Amino acid sequence: MKNIILTGDRPTGHLHVGHYVGSLKERVRLQNGGNYDEVYIMIADAQALTDNAEHPEKVRQNILQVALDYLACGLDPEKSTIFIQSMVPELTELTFYYMNLVTVSRVQRNPTVKAEIQMRNFEASIPVGFFCYPISQAADITAFRATAVPAGEDQAPMLEQCREIVHKFNSVYGETLTEPKIILPENEACMRLPGIDGKAKMSKSLGNCIYLSDDEEDVRKKVMSMFTDPNHLRVQDPGRVEGNPVFIYLEAFSRPEHFAEFLPEYSGLEELEEHYRKGGLGDVKVKKFLNNVMQAELSPIRQRRKMWEQRLPEVCEILKKGTEKARAAAAETLHDVRHAMRIDYFENDNLLN
Ligand code: ATP
Ligand code: MG
Repeated sequence: MKNIILTGDRPTGHLHVGHYVGSLKERVRLQNGGNYDEVYIMIADAQALTDNAEHPEKVRQNILQVALDYLACGLDPEKSTIFIQSMVPELTELTFYYMNLVTVSRVQRNPTVKAEIQMRNFEASIPVGFFCYPISQAADITAFRATAVPAGEDQAPMLEQCREIVHKFNSVYGETLTEPKIILPENEACMRLPGIDGKAKMSKSLGNCIYLSDDEEDVRKKVMSMFTDPNHLRVQDPGRVEGNPVFIYLEAFSRPEHFAEFLPEYSGLEELEEHYRKGGLGDVKVKKFLNNVMQAELSPIRQRRKMWEQRLPEVCEILKKGTEKARAAAAETLHDVRHAMRIDYFENDNLLN
């Protein structure tokens, strides 16, 4: 069996540092690690439309922005197939067949769907398309026979739902689909990076993000305005590290060499945390360090992004080529699915058999 990756992002805005540590960084590592035969990266415009039906222009405009963020982070079109979801209509057809294998109550129980419905104030009127997006995500994953999906923790219930659909399909129609597993970041702080406002998750829809495309000054301002421990009022006060976004970000981004370069008076993060807990360490000092760390990580990404911004026709060509390749792969799976379901009526005059 081949090792195949499928993952992606909704083009609802520029990508942020939560995407970076939660999934993008891992993708680039896996792309370059040589253990995967194929890597598919999907710009999930159809999924984005499920809660942006009235704002198609927003989705459209963000397709190139997401592609630029990908290339800036080091996704390499020679190694990874980057494509646009809605341009692969096979995915929609698969979704339609999978819908029959899932109950309404099962989707209602999906904790991510629940949380997202609440976040969007959809309680009274959930678009059917939005409600079904976990099923369409199962179609995306299985269409490419993905064995692994690098994603943030919020995607774990989606993967669980996908595996159930695979089991159900295979038990009803015979062994056809491949069961995927999620690849979560090893570092716990990266699984669900909080927003700069301290809210549970940095999310495009919540406007609490540091974007990969933010310039140096924007990043600095955002870091310096970050939410910290509300009880840590004076420098000498003892502070809390747990649940404190500034320290969570340091856990996600800082490396020993950052201490050596920007804060040599501390041996590492543990010592810095200990000092904060004890009291006597001000938020401003920690934030200045975090800003240095973030700038060191983001500056090469920013530079590569600027370079690709000058080459938009090439970016478009990358998406077009990637989409063609993705479509061919999805068509093969759809062919097998139709065969398993015995709805391939005209192949070898099957309808007569
Ligand atoms: P939206 O608000 O439109 O849903 P989003 O910011 O949640 O946008 P998605 O496109 O839904 O972003 O997520 C893309 C990928 O990034 C998923 O794998 C998701 O798990 C991961 N991800 C998103 N936000 C975070 C975060 N704050 N921390 C870690 N991973 C994240
Ligand atoms: Mg999301």
